[in-house]
Amino acid sequence: MTTPTPLRTIRPRRPRQQRPTTLHDLTLAELEQRLVAQGHQPYRARQLFHWAYQQLALDYHAMTVLPKALRQQLAETLPLTTLQLTRTVTSDDGETEKLLFRTVDGEHVETVLMCYPDRTTVCVSCQVGCAVGCAFCATGMTGLIRNLSAGEIVSQVVYAARLARERGRTLTNIVVMGMGEPFQNYDATMKAIAILHDPAGFGLGARRITLSTSGLVPFIDRLAEEPYQVKLAISLHAPDDALRSQLVPINRRYPIAELLAACRRYVAKTGRRISFEYVLIRDVNDQDHHAEALARLLHGLLCHVNLIPLNPTPAAPHLARPTPDRIARFAAILHRHGIPATVRYSRGVDIAAACGQLRAQADAEAAIAATSSTDQHA
Ligand code: SAH
Ligand code: SF4
Repeated sequence: MTTPTPLRTIRPRRPRQQRPTTLHDLTLAELEQRLVAQGHQPYRARQLFHWAYQQLALDYHAMTVLPKALRQQLAETLPLTTLQLTRTVTSDDGETEKLLFRTVDGEHVETVLMCYPDRTTVCVSCQVGCAVGCAFCATGMTGLIRNLSAGEIVSQVVYAARLARERGRTLTNIVVMGMGEPFQNYDATMKAIAILHDPAGFGLGARRITLSTSGLVPFIDRLAEEPYQVKLAISLHAPDDALRSQLVPINRRYPIAELLAACRRYVAKTGRRISFEYVLIRDVNDQDHHAEALARLLHGLLCHVNLIPLNPTPAAPHLARPTPDRIARFAAILHRHGIPATVRYSRGVDIAAACGQLRAQADAEAAIAATSSTDQHA
């Protein structure tokens, strides 16, 4: 008997529109090739990378070092980005900023910029929606609409870096923890990382980039082979298969024993510590016996646990955040067993910055706008 697939894919709601290749889609080598094929000098590619990723230009006409004819040709044939920034929302404390984009085919993508005393981090999305369908996640509720291209992932970082610059800061870290499952859009995500890592451009060290996954085992092994030393976070959320399959349906395909075996291979191969994300949900996975079981599961593994009290979402109204006492007790049990654990409250809860929430809001607003414009035409 075959295991039923836990993945859901829903049809795109709008007809697909041809998406043009953008500058943000290209590696330095690809850009060089393209320019040479059009009769330009190869060094122009480095100049473009410098302007796109160090000066953070979003308009070729700002790149005054390039001949006007080349700027004109590029503007007509290779858009810098197709993402349109439609809105930014700032949290009450001013430390978290959410950026909402519209894609060329009318989808919404969200990105969050988080300012900490010692670092400035952008949380990027890699898909519109997500096929994994975790029980507590607003993004998962819609199913997968489509993958983002490498350029659409890179563009989010460039916009966020510009915003950081306006705040007198420099972007220091990237986490792929927004909408979507990076290991279901592996190639585009890795290409975006390659582009952002290139010292001729953005030049972000791979150790400053974190990928978070719900646990697609084959890609954990694949990541271990990559030349980039990115950090890996695993969304675990439960210490046993029965519970994890309810919360993270992909567990039916890759159960905990397989997942943990892949994690151990990853640590053995790379020597890099793994982070485990554990969203704490009241009376679901927050009891002492869950903490004890989690400690047994992770015993001896080079890891760190991030305990994330649930961000309540209208997508799962029956799920709640545990009390502060319960959260502290859960962390204390892990500590007693020698498992390093930190409680991390999601940033920007007041601006619905938790996974998928802003986009859900934007979609609702768009639906309302569409209804009222239909009314007007009626
Ligand atoms: N798909 C990947 C990365 C995006 S989700 C993954 O699941 O790891 C990034 C993190 O946000 C995950 O750890 C996820 O469990 C968490 N998350 C999703 N919805 C949440 C919510 N309502 N409250 C708190 N964390 C949430
Ligand atoms: Fe997808 Fe991650 Fe949300 Fe699960 S938590 S539905 S894997 S985005």
